[in-house]
Amino acid sequence: MTNKYMYFIANWKMYGDIKSLNTLNKVIKFSKSNKINKGRLIYCPPYTLINSFLEKFKNCQIDIGGQNCHESENYGPYTGFINSRMLKKAGANYVIIGHSENREKGEDDKLINLKIKSALKAKLKVIFCIGETLNEKRKNKTQSILSKQIKAGLNQIKNKSHIFIAYEPIWAIGTGIIPKSEELLSTISFIKSKFKDRIPKVLYGGSVNPKNIKDLKEINNIDGFLIGGASQNPNKFIDIVKKTYS
Ligand code: PEP
Repeated sequence: MTNKYMYFIANWKMYGDIKSLNTLNKVIKFSKSNKINKGRLIYCPPYTLINSFLEKFKNCQIDIGGQNCHESENYGPYTGFINSRMLKKAGANYVIIGHSENREKGEDDKLINLKIKSALKAKLKVIFCIGETLNEKRKNKTQSILSKQIKAGLNQIKNKSHIFIAYEPIWAIGTGIIPKSEELLSTISFIKSKFKDRIPKVLYGGSVNPKNIKDLKEINNIDGFLIGGASQNPNKFIDIVKKTYS
C-alpha cells in the first residue's frame, strides 16, 4: 500500500466527443470522496474538448492538460497547430510533450526541447515523455536512449521544478505488456539519478490497467501513472486510483 502523493494522468489521445462528457460524472463524484486526497487527477482531452472539460470540472480538483503544443510561444501562421500560451489561456495547467506517437511522426529531441521551453514560459507544467523501442531494449540500449532523450529534451533548461518525466517504453504502450517490476524499479531510479539538484516526479506509462496496478503500485519510486486506453473508461480509471491506495 502506498501513502504517497501520486499523479494519475488521463491521456485521451484522439478519442472523445461531447457525449463522452457524461462518462466523467463518476470520476467527478469519486474525486470529491476522501479516497483521493493523496492523489491528483489530470485529464488531457483532445483540444476540442478542453473547454467542456473545464466547465465540467469547475467544482472539483481535477486538472486539465493539453496533449501537445507548437514550439512557438508567439501566435503565427501555423495552420492546424496551437501553442502553449493558447493552452494556458484555455485553462490547461499541464501539457504532454515528446509522446512517442508524436516522436514517430517526426518530432525529434531538438523540437521537443523547444516545445518544453515554450510550455514553461507559458507557465504550464510539462509531462515530458521518454522511452525506448523494443529493439533498443533488446540491444540493452535503454539507459543510453533515456540519457540522450533527457539531456537533449531538457537542454538549457535550468529550472526543472515544473517538469514531470513520464517513462513510457514504446513497446508497452497499448500492447497490454508492462516491464518486469525489478526492471521498472531500476529504470525509474536510473532516470532519477540523472538529476542532481532537484529530482523530478517520474511517472510510468504503458498499458496501466486495473489488473496490473496491483504490481505497479508496489514499485516505490514511481510517482504516478500516465494512462491511455484505460483512462477513457471511468470505472477502470477509478479502479486504478482506488487500487493504488488500497
Ligand atoms: C499513452 O499513450 O500515453 C499510454 C500510456 O497508453 P496506454 O495506457 O493505452 O498504453
